[in-house]
Amino acid sequence: MKQYLIPEQGNFYKANMHMHTTVSDGRMTPEETKEEYLKRGYSIVAFTDHQVLVPHNDLTDENFLAITSTEIDFNQTGNAYGFIKTYHLNLYSRDPNQTRYSAFTAKKVQYPEYTPQDMLDYNYPKDYDVELINRTIEKAREEGFFVSYNHPVWSTQTYADYIDLKGLWGVECHNTGCDRTGYPDTPQPLDDLLRTGAQVFPLATDDAHNMNHCFGGWLMVKAEKLEYATVIDALERGDFYASTGPEIKELSIENGILHVECSPARSVFVSTERRMSIQKNATDAPLTSVDIDLNKYLCDSNNDKATVKPYFRLTVVDGAGMRAYSRAYFLDELN
Ligand SMILES: [Zn+2]
Ligand SMILES: [Zn+2]
Repeated sequence: MKQYLIPEQGNFYKANMHMHTTVSDGRMTPEETKEEYLKRGYSIVAFTDHQVLVPHNDLTDENFLAITSTEIDFNQTGNAYGFIKTYHLNLYSRDPNQTRYSAFTAKKVQYPEYTPQDMLDYNYPKDYDVELINRTIEKAREEGFFVSYNHPVWSTQTYADYIDLKGLWGVECHNTGCDRTGYPDTPQPLDDLLRTGAQVFPLATDDAHNMNHCFGGWLMVKAEKLEYATVIDALERGDFYASTGPEIKELSIENGILHVECSPARSVFVSTERRMSIQKNATDAPLTSVDIDLNKYLCDSNNDKATVKPYFRLTVVDGAGMRAYSRAYFLDELN
């Protein structure tokens, strides 16, 4: 029976999951952000101003959803600026009205006018290590957030910095602000984390601080309606794909054949936990409907014997080289 890997039911909503406004160090007000993103077909923006959790529910209406969120960071000390490694995490709240988090941060609060007094008074730890980050992620999850790991390339982080992180919801494979300033992210950390057996979702975001960082990377979220809890559930389930251009209109599997409907593409490929991929490349006309036979891969993969838990994920590349990434599907998710 046909299994839809991106749900068949519902609507796609375009989402920018990383945004800075005048509430922290961005140039655009929250109102201008809504206006500019709405104009370009977006329905969702997560307002992730640095270190502060400021709901913008007043902007939410039938065409637009503001997600309550924040970006927190942890900076290595002792080196000159520019050589400092840093962890940046986005915390997305399940509760649209949430205004506080007690997740640790190694940085003093920058925007006191938006910060409750006890958070200002808190003696923030100055450590920088995986253990602190994992405690932070765990605490954030307890407090009703799900957590993304942002722009590892710009953060000058390597495998050793992220491979032991636990409880992440997503990792940025594209960050427009970083890309346009010379630090392009890739899906490498995503695959590294997936190969630990953890489900982590691919993210493409803007991290916009001004108009130069806008409209380059987004999620297409499949949800029944544009309503806070419904969209948050879809995000947490991974009912979305990330993109810098192409559309994935359908992704389903039946009898080991992966079926993809997409906007015109130069190539479509499935990559896996192993050094094994299956590609389809356009010859005469761009690809828009593709069947990829996974039977050999599925046959070769045995969850019991594998040293790495088997998964596959889809990438669609258009004529301009822009990419769309499905999330990874572990084989135990298949019917
Ligand atoms: Zn950041
Ligand atoms: Zn940011």
